Amino acid sequence: MGIHHQLCFLASLLLVIHAAPILKPGREKAFAEDYLRKFFYLEDTITSSIARPEAGGREPVYGLSEKLKEMQKFFGLEVTGKLNKETLAVMKKPRCGLPDVRYNSPNVYRFAMPEDEPRWETNELTYRILNYTPDMSRAEVDDSIARALQVWAEVSPLRFTRMNSGTADIMISFATNGEKKTNKLFLTDHGDGMMFDGPLQTLAHAFDPGSGLGGDAHFDDDEFFTFRNNSHNAFVLFLVAAHEFGHSLGLFHSEDPNALMHSLYTFTDPDRSPLSSNDIEGIQLLYGPPNCQNLVWDAVTTFRGETLFFKNGFYWRKSQSNTVIQLPIRSFWLNAPDNVDAAYEDPAQDKLFLFKGTQVWAFNGQNLEPGYPKPLSSFGLPASVTKINAAVHNQNTGKTLLFVGRHYYSYDERENRMDEGDPPRVNIRFPGLTGEVTAAHMTNNNFYLFSGRNLVKFSNSIGLPHLLQNNYFLPC
Ligand SMILES: [Zn+2]
Ligand SMILES: [Zn+2]
Repeated sequence: MGIHHQLCFLASLLLVIHAAPILKPGREKAFAEDYLRKFFYLEDTITSSIARPEAGGREPVYGLSEKLKEMQKFFGLEVTGKLNKETLAVMKKPRCGLPDVRYNSPNVYRFAMPEDEPRWETNELTYRILNYTPDMSRAEVDDSIARALQVWAEVSPLRFTRMNSGTADIMISFATNGEKKTNKLFLTDHGDGMMFDGPLQTLAHAFDPGSGLGGDAHFDDDEFFTFRNNSHNAFVLFLVAAHEFGHSLGLFHSEDPNALMHSLYTFTDPDRSPLSSNDIEGIQLLYGPPNCQNLVWDAVTTFRGETLFFKNGFYWRKSQSNTVIQLPIRSFWLNAPDNVDAAYEDPAQDKLFLFKGTQVWAFNGQNLEPGYPKPLSSFGLPASVTKINAAVHNQNTGKTLLFVGRHYYSYDERENRMDEGDPPRVNIRFPGLTGEVTAAHMTNNNFYLFSGRNLVKFSNSIGLPHLLQNNYFLPC
């Protein structure tokens, strides 16, 4: 081992030691029991039988080994029921202060949603920031909190308004279990009976929707919070807050390790929404999708028998239960662009095409086709075309119409070439449609063309244009 490698090794060793609480030999069991008491409702056998005499002794007692198994299952560890190194390592990771399971229940959740669904009765909620951490500027705290709420507003009908006085639904504060950065060691539970634990492990906690403490979020100010840096032992307030506000809105911990509502802190790019499809499905089960009546869609397309609507980084579809759900585009098409200008499906090739700027992506199911993304010129479009507004494929003719401004190009998918001649004006093919086509799809032999908020139906044969409600396909 060279000197350089030795130094690196030493540095990483120091990092590990510094990152987690150091336990004296023999303290591991007590530490683990404490952890399982806090997060998995480990109880002493005696307490358990006193608490629920009605169980008549027939109820299984969830002892240490059972609770370890529950915890190992939740975190995707090997389920041994033994306190091994891997299990201890997870126990030392920074996390939310709320439990991972329902009271004494061995069941964890597929979705971050509790059984009794505590939720706000209104979509118009208020929040108030009661005090500030010294770790960041006030403007940074204000911005982090506002964006953390906006993450949920983007995928639900919820709206958040800030209050500077009085009682808000979500009261936000920073607190410690003593006085931060002083030697005074009197302990305080900051008014809710839930003590913080000093630096690391527990970062924050929040309360289910309700009056009083309900909805409130408390941050452990013995942590070092940052605006956006992923520095060692510092936590991005925006990410911690977005997780806690999930609780404030009624979500529970999810066992999906990719979910924001998983209980461990994970750094993600603070410029992107930290929500996974699991989080979005959870919040939409409680509050439904955002109102889509007045949205101007980026793109609309059929896809294997469904109709998908694209807006910003999301797509909307009807779920199997016929409710409308909204999911990140990249949760299904990992290699897709952030957002799209246009989309169409060619069922004969079983391909979905997504357009963004001067490029086109082709997918078979979730998989990007080899060679993609390709430039628009691969369709034979002139270099002057730098963006497609809308696209629709006609199965009867095998042609794809690509809308650009007030004109459209017609591409023959079977011959792999563009129709010759200048692109015709849209209103020659679709009489009465004077605006630009901004999104389009073809279903049951009808063209459905969106022009901003207007939706017009054209029968493929002959017929007059028919104006429809913008939310004709997605009733939300
Ligand atoms: Zn949590
Ligand atoms: Zn608290």
